[in-house]
Amino acid sequence: MKDIIQTIIENGKNFPDQVAVKHNDESLTYEALNQYADHLAVILKDTKSPLILYGHMSPYMIVGMIGSIKAGCGYVPIDTSIPQERVVSIINKIAPQYLLNTTDAQLHIEGPSIITTTALLNVDGDSPIENSINDSAIAYTIFTSGSTGEPKGVQISYESLNLFTNWMIQLNQLGLNQQWLNQAPFSFDLSVMSIYPCLATAGTLNLVDKTMINKPKLLNQMLEETQINVWVSTPSFMEMCLMLPHLTEAHYSSLKEFFFCGEMLAHRTAQLLQQRFPSAFIYNTYGPTEATVAVTSVLITEDIIKKYNPLPVGIPQSGTSLTLTEEGELVILGKCVSEGYVKDKTRSEKVFKMQDGQKAYYTGDKAQLKDNQWFINGRIDYQIKLNGYRMELEEIECQLREVDYVREAIVVPMYRDGKVINLNAVVVLNHVEDHMDNQTITHQIKKELKRLIPEYMIPKKITYTDKLPLTMNGKLDRKKIAEDLLK
Ligand code: AMP
Repeated sequence: MKDIIQTIIENGKNFPDQVAVKHNDESLTYEALNQYADHLAVILKDTKSPLILYGHMSPYMIVGMIGSIKAGCGYVPIDTSIPQERVVSIINKIAPQYLLNTTDAQLHIEGPSIITTTALLNVDGDSPIENSINDSAIAYTIFTSGSTGEPKGVQISYESLNLFTNWMIQLNQLGLNQQWLNQAPFSFDLSVMSIYPCLATAGTLNLVDKTMINKPKLLNQMLEETQINVWVSTPSFMEMCLMLPHLTEAHYSSLKEFFFCGEMLAHRTAQLLQQRFPSAFIYNTYGPTEATVAVTSVLITEDIIKKYNPLPVGIPQSGTSLTLTEEGELVILGKCVSEGYVKDKTRSEKVFKMQDGQKAYYTGDKAQLKDNQWFINGRIDYQIKLNGYRMELEEIECQLREVDYVREAIVVPMYRDGKVINLNAVVVLNHVEDHMDNQTITHQIKKELKRLIPEYMIPKKITYTDKLPLTMNGKLDRKKIAEDLLK
């Protein structure tokens, strides 16, 4: 098995001038990546708490990852889209000694010492340091939505990260020195699917930022300028890109491999992509953050598309097994399973167990095994995916109730073709001033929410009612509320 950090160090020697990471006109070669990561590791070497890695698509975010793993403390990525209150709550939980700020913005955060990228360039006289992380140490902690209103920090060990990366290297049919595309912000673990497999195979990691995502013209320009070979994204992002009429094999002949994860790959998306890129390898993979990005995969061929709708998510990687509870909930067993939520015994004990001497994670996904292929059939709880983002409806409801005007709230996902397309909130108001109409209140509620949760979690539409309906046994009647919204 390849040790990622060791391999990246060797790539620094074998391919010193090759670009390791690129974002617009900023790039770092393998030599520079290793050098700056070493500088950072020297600063962090006696640190016990993880490094907070703050920024968006700067190549220095990757320096932060490699340097903190080398130093043995690991990292917690925080994207710039995360609101201040949430950043503070993550920092309070982690109690970090250091924060690497890869942005130009001044951060007003109490607690950690702030390291700037300039400081990384200025550490002198140190020689390359050995990789000092051991297998059981936590390589990264990624925070995901939690139903109580407080995000959960999923801790992934260096061993799990290595196992995952080695599996991805086996799936990748194109080998060394490829151009990889990374779409996901680093605070989502889908980014792990491109970062480490790319760097461990001496590829170039091309970072797509949020401006490119919002402006297809810029994205098109980036794709025209860079001969991408391996594409890693959510299916939602692919759907958006398929609107670019030139995204075809004839026009982008370098694009030969696609990896999807994070949400259902819609049949029509796979079909359209397969028609546009008939000779490419298209993988559908499945997994939660709690089991190191992905645990199953299937190569989506023309035959699979003809035979199945919805599409399967495939079979598990070796060393990982899947079982179902009596209720049909999918359980993942193996070394890929997280060490638990950081400093959160109660929530960890609910979903992480030991089973037959192995770590087990209760996913909350309903699944089915058919023709020796796994299929995902929805959730047993109120976790959803919207544009590839994972969120708990109950967390949004919790935060809505934090807003002064709101007494009660329920959030209802609206579906098209089995996929959530937006969120509606139904709200019972506290007393509001007479002059305020619904439009003004909606504006105020959304403004307040912006402080508390990321923008992608804010309901698009808010409707108002005097009372939320209850079921016979006194629970909120989500089904009736959803039906009423469709009337
Ligand atoms: P995350 O932790 O953000 O990766 O989200 C994990 C959840 O996304 C899983 O528990 C599933 O509900 C869903 N998911 C991930 N990959 C797939 C897939 N290929 N097909 C269907 N659902 C998926």
